[in-house]
Amino acid sequence: MDYTAFFKKNLDTLKSEGRYRHFANIERRAGDFPKADLHTPEGKKEIIIWCGNDYLGMGQHPKVVEATTKTIAQCGAGAGGTRNISGTTRYHVELEKELADLHNKEAGLVFTSGYVANEATLSTLGTLLPNCIIYSDSENHASMIQGIRHSKAQKRIFKHNDVEDLRRLLMQDDPSCAKLIVFESVYSMDGDIAPIKEICAVAKEFGALTYIDEVHGVGMYGQKGGGIAQARELEDEIDIIQGTLGKAFGLIGGYITGSKELIDFVRSFAPGFIFTTSITPSVAAGCIASIQHLKTSDQERVRHQNNARTLKGKCAAAGIPYLKSESHIVPVIIGNAEKCKQVTDALLHDYQIYVQPINYPTVPIGTERLRLTPSAIHTEEMADQLVAALVEIWQRFDLSFSDCSIEDTNAA
Ligand code: PLP
Repeated sequence: MDYTAFFKKNLDTLKSEGRYRHFANIERRAGDFPKADLHTPEGKKEIIIWCGNDYLGMGQHPKVVEATTKTIAQCGAGAGGTRNISGTTRYHVELEKELADLHNKEAGLVFTSGYVANEATLSTLGTLLPNCIIYSDSENHASMIQGIRHSKAQKRIFKHNDVEDLRRLLMQDDPSCAKLIVFESVYSMDGDIAPIKEICAVAKEFGALTYIDEVHGVGMYGQKGGGIAQARELEDEIDIIQGTLGKAFGLIGGYITGSKELIDFVRSFAPGFIFTTSITPSVAAGCIASIQHLKTSDQERVRHQNNARTLKGKCAAAGIPYLKSESHIVPVIIGNAEKCKQVTDALLHDYQIYVQPINYPTVPIGTERLRLTPSAIHTEEMADQLVAALVEIWQRFDLSFSDCSIEDTNAA
């Protein structure tokens, strides 16, 4: 077989469909987020990032930077092993306690990323729970889909955020089978929020475990930053709360929290937890500093919500069509991969604004979009510049303006 020809043919297909991924080579500057330098063959230039997930700017927070650098100086760069074989340090132990407290659960377990937390936990539970059936929201993230696939458990896909469809599927199954309902709090591409209370009520009725991905909720919602379930006082109704340390908390890593027994079970049986080097002590220390800060400080959350509301208001006033939702995410649908790339290229090269185009398979074909993520550290002037640039680009590419008026209020 001509392997090179095979690889090239498939890459050419991606290119011809306009969804080949070009990465922007950037360098973030601590203390100056969301500004960064873009590196190109012609040199570097300053840009403003409008598509990042460091939603609260914690990646440059002085407490986080200090905890991380101090721990590198004390403990060195790496973890030195898997969690089982010399890779559990006092920072990992403290971080897991911090996470359990964040979600008001008995125990927590840290993984190398949010992706790995989902994949490892769902594949392990689906494989080992007897006759397990997994009920998965149709818009769940790829990491959950892979975990469910790898478990080889039976799966049922319920219509997005549709509790009646979930109930219909549960009613058709054998009551004696183990059941696990898997969903997200904030869906990161549309910004909509799950009917958590109703899903938990149906789960109880049918004796199912509940698993929520709070990756786009943790740090940003809830009294202590525990996510949407916390904001809605529903944490007790959920068996497993999963989250990331790589978005609002500003570093890297993922986790689950739940009962002592469930966490010990995943710790003991999940290959994705056991057979990999643990996150570095310095990252764990930075995560502890970030979580502790956001448990008591509300100012980042308030600024974040205000900035999201401001950007939506400015887009609405200028006629830039965005998907309305209760969350902080502002999706602007272009509906075509090539056009989406042209728009983001124009933003980057003509206006020094970086927004990555979002294409299939991250979103369905025909819904290609800009996913604008206002953060706590964007200024109103930056929002004005972004909207002015979008208006000029909309005119240049003859895109449709809308007359949408703002109805949503970030009311999570
Ligand atoms: N879950 C959802 C809903 C996500 O959007 C993502 C990442 O974008 C993940 C999980 C993976 O988290 P991480 O980036 O920490 O691997």
